[in-house]
Amino acid sequence: MITRAKPQTAGTYPGKCCFRASLERDATFCDECGSPLQRCMATDECGGLLDAGGCCPVCVAPDLSLDAGSASSIRAGGSLALPLLVSNQSPVGRPLFVEAMWFKGGDGEMKKVDLTFQRLNPGTTSEVGLRTGVLETAGLHRFDVHLVVATRHLWREERYVFTAAIVIPVEPEDATEVVQNYNIQADAIGAGLTIYNPTRIQKEREQGIAKHAEPIRLTLRRADALDRALGHRGYPSGLAVTKSTALVWKGFDPRHVPMDGPIRNTTGVLEIGRASSAGEGGLNDVRLVISRNGQTDEERSVHISRRHFQLFIENDRLMLRVESQNGLLVNDIAHRRGKMVMISDGDVIKPLVREPGAVGVRVQFETQHDEVHRITLQRLLGPAGS
Ligand SMILES: [Zn+2]
Ligand SMILES: [Zn+2]
Repeated sequence: MITRAKPQTAGTYPGKCCFRASLERDATFCDECGSPLQRCMATDECGGLLDAGGCCPVCVAPDLSLDAGSASSIRAGGSLALPLLVSNQSPVGRPLFVEAMWFKGGDGEMKKVDLTFQRLNPGTTSEVGLRTGVLETAGLHRFDVHLVVATRHLWREERYVFTAAIVIPVEPEDATEVVQNYNIQADAIGAGLTIYNPTRIQKEREQGIAKHAEPIRLTLRRADALDRALGHRGYPSGLAVTKSTALVWKGFDPRHVPMDGPIRNTTGVLEIGRASSAGEGGLNDVRLVISRNGQTDEERSVHISRRHFQLFIENDRLMLRVESQNGLLVNDIAHRRGKMVMISDGDVIKPLVREPGAVGVRVQFETQHDEVHRITLQRLLGPAGS
């Protein structure tokens, strides 16, 4: 059975009603608008809910500015330094990790930017110097900056790509024909673009207007297509498992598994092992034992750890983390305690390294376009008594 949310009322998710509802620690749905509550993995610290793009805006609040102070003009044949300032605007004291930065100029080539920092504490700013390269022609030149940021909580990490576009008017080399102003509004050439016109800034400074002595804030937007293209979210094939992907349990004792549907507990992590399940008053989300017709084979099940592994969704992938001292196998590859493994369509999780055929969980994806809408987890049992 799949539990479905009531259709959302008009407005954006999450609404104020959802934040109100989320104050109830165990709430999994908003009682007002019916939306499922997608809590941030760090919800204990941030109180955040994920937005429609799967991102917590409380934890992930990067800000990008251009320090306007350096250049006074730019002509064809010249190049320009772009002193960027990256800052972390998280209001709740969560650090942000800048994992990479890419710069794309007129030649369309993406260049990786050398960063001298990674961790950005809340309220702090770091500088990154970029150069445009030679701008051969006069006119408008567009540059894109892609910022890969991560938020971390315990051993978990979610990465997102943000992007900003800067448009720079370049004047002709011939100084007699100075194009003084490109009076173009950002919305005339596309939303999300920031125009940087050093010549105009310089003129305004000379006239005492000097309003651009302050850094120019760039419009930074989530770039979910780049999340996947740059390999930060989803599978290499382009598929994505999202927080709304339904999990369907097959071949288990019904008391041992949660209801079919997306992961809806507060932590977003499913604990799986031999200990009793939540349905039986225990702490595991899924009880995994060797049993037939409701009769547990205690002798053989004892090798499954009380808490053997975890399953959760991270960076639009189904992930497994090994909890057992004895490790486990995914297909035929052994993984030790603490290891994180990306689980793909067709994988079989085998908890017993020494007796891999005794019990397993086969994972199968059902996809719609590039999203996995359903994952079937089927318990497999070896021949009885083998
Ligand atoms: Zn709501
Ligand atoms: Zn958060």
